[in-house]
Amino acid sequence: MKALLVCEYREGKLLDSTYELLAFADRLGAEKAMFLIGSDSALPACSTTVYLADAAKHGEYNPDVHKKLVLDAAQRENADCIVFVHSSYGWDLAPRVAAALRAGQVSEIVGIVDGGYEVGCCNAKMRRTVVPKSGKAVLTIQAGAFSSSDTPQGTPRVERIDTADGASPMEFVGYEPAEKKDVDLTRAEVIVSAGRGVGKKDNIPTIEALAKALGGELGASRPVVDAGWVDHSHQVGTTGQSVSPKLYVACGISGAIQHLAGMKKSDFVVAINKDKDAPIGEVADVLVVADVMQFVPALTAKLQ
Ligand code: FAD
Repeated sequence: MKALLVCEYREGKLLDSTYELLAFADRLGAEKAMFLIGSDSALPACSTTVYLADAAKHGEYNPDVHKKLVLDAAQRENADCIVFVHSSYGWDLAPRVAAALRAGQVSEIVGIVDGGYEVGCCNAKMRRTVVPKSGKAVLTIQAGAFSSSDTPQGTPRVERIDTADGASPMEFVGYEPAEKKDVDLTRAEVIVSAGRGVGKKDNIPTIEALAKALGGELGASRPVVDAGWVDHSHQVGTTGQSVSPKLYVACGISGAIQHLAGMKKSDFVVAINKDKDAPIGEVADVLVVADVMQFVPALTAKLQ
């Protein structure tokens, strides 16, 4: 199987998610080639072919033009699958490529099983296996689901690509900075995060008190943010912030892949969960099996 891996490039830099694509293709046992609309100064460290189109000419994003370039590289490579990260870039571009190829698309892949791909369902509590029936397939992988501890290395063979037809009614204008956050979790050394298991909004100050006693910040899982218990600026995960504190305390958080993707770089993880089999236990250094609203106040009192 041959895989064309579509790298991401933003504001002059190659994004680290590129290496997750390589880890995915390695696990798939596929022959790899990469595709980048970027620049010579931001090539990935790898020993594969990189089809390189110039971002200065083609824009950091233009779905019409980028689609043509991806299709051109896929044809030259005779790729069986074209793989994107399931980011805002991937989820916009991948279906356009799939439609142009009349190929099946599998989105948000979190695992590989014999002959198929695992994707989350039932709010990421279960997994189902999807097998593309089309000859060629377009795939998007969940950020954080495939990573390698190996340091990327190698020098790519660069094949330059261009498109004669760069016409598009769309134009890339620029990036709009996100609203100013009231907390910057990316710099926090200690984060204590509240999950749905905390129960209700009135219990958030109890979690916040532990964060304060540890000299840290309050984090949260997505349901807590969606319920309006805390502001989105506290959300950790694929649609929140990616954090790397020295200590991460997960209170009543199950450990869905989208949450783990945002906190897996933490040095030390403590999870408090009443379910001893909660998936967070697989990444936690310490799993405290307890009712969070009994354990946390007792721990905070000790620390104080
Ligand atoms: P649940 O999964 O409901 O888990 C609650 C946990 O609390 C359970 O393990 C339970 O055993 C435990 N519990 C219950 N009561 C108690 C108690 N009294 N004491 C102790 N433990 C208790 N999620 C994120 O967090 N961040 C993201 O950025 C994010 N992005 C997403 C993007 C997409 C496209 C999708 C589809 C989903 C995303 N999600 C994200 C949602 C994610 O899939 C999970 O649904 C979410 O992380 C679950 O949050 P939770 O662990 O707080 O809740």
